Amino acid sequence: MGEKKKKIIKSIKIDLDKCNGCRACEVACSAFHAAPKYSSNNPARSRIRVIHEPLRDVYVPVYAGEYAKAECLGRDKYVIDGKEYDECGFCRASCPSRDIFKEPDSALPLKCDMCEDDPPQEKPLCVQWCLNDALIYEEREEEVEEEVKLEDVEIGMESMIDKYGLETVMDTLARISATKKE
Ligand code: SF4
Ligand code: SF4
Repeated sequence: MGEKKKKIIKSIKIDLDKCNGCRACEVACSAFHAAPKYSSNNPARSRIRVIHEPLRDVYVPVYAGEYAKAECLGRDKYVIDGKEYDECGFCRASCPSRDIFKEPDSALPLKCDMCEDDPPQEKPLCVQWCLNDALIYEEREEEVEEEVKLEDVEIGMESMIDKYGLETVMDTLARISATKKE
């Protein structure tokens, strides 16, 4: 059992009735996370994606969660108040079954970091830019068990190993490090 400690829990409440699918949140997120910041924007690498089906009046903002190595054995599909949502429509995983929540060029997993990056933001960028107030930011304090945290680079490496195999990744790293030393 780990130690207990106080932690600020950050959450974003999503009001589907207020989202009109404008996708300003995707633009703001991808621009904030570009390197250098705001140098480009590409919704394909946003850590929030809006499931957008105007004919069914479906607009569902979904935040990138954890990297999933394998697909689930079955898929869910929801019908709520007579409205049919897409298969896996509420799932946050960066998963082999789909393209969202992956870097478009490298397929490295993307995860929402609540904009904790430098400089620290008072509110996440997507919340600031949602002019319809569909995204509502909340903080509260909770006692939690200290967890072992995988750094982003470890998660990225793990996904590369899952995709290409340990040997290929090690060979590639050895080749790159040799050229860097030249
Ligand atoms: S900015 Fe707000 S209203 Fe626009 S798509 Fe995102 S969540 Fe929906
Ligand atoms: S909280 Fe920040 S990182 Fe997460 S989706 Fe919103 S803008 Fe992107």
